[in-house]
Amino acid sequence: MSTVGSLYQEVILDHTRKPRNFRILSEANHKAEGYNPLCGDKVTVYIKLDGDRISDISFQGSGCAISTASASILTETLKGKTEAEAEALFERFHDLVTKGEASLGASPGRPELGKLAVFSGVSEFPARVKCATLSWHTLKAALSESGGIAAVSTE
Ligand code: ZN
Repeated sequence: MSTVGSLYQEVILDHTRKPRNFRILSEANHKAEGYNPLCGDKVTVYIKLDGDRISDISFQGSGCAISTASASILTETLKGKTEAEAEALFERFHDLVTKGEASLGASPGRPELGKLAVFSGVSEFPARVKCATLSWHTLKAALSESGGIAAVSTE
């Protein structure tokens, strides 16, 4: 394991042990539930959208280390971002976990991944891609519904 690899693992473990924004957001005006049947990961994403800005975001659920850490880092990263910024980051993140480090660097003008970069190793484990992207698909479903509860499944 390289130094960068173990640093990344530390960050993932930290977010698994102490998930950030892990709570029900009572003032949420967008919400969705996601399920990854391949692994059994479940996540509910709560969003308080002010205009097109995510003023607050939280999640609840149960799942593997990757899915929990991904949801935790997602909420930390997207608080204060606009819907458009969130979508651009999702695209970027999706490229990272499916194509790996090769997707980094060569794309000027694309948003910075910041802490999301810790998931680059996921690209070596295709079965884990859905664990890493579950909360993002759920986020997208939450943003596109209005009022009710959207449900997504990765299959
Ligand atoms: Zn999982």
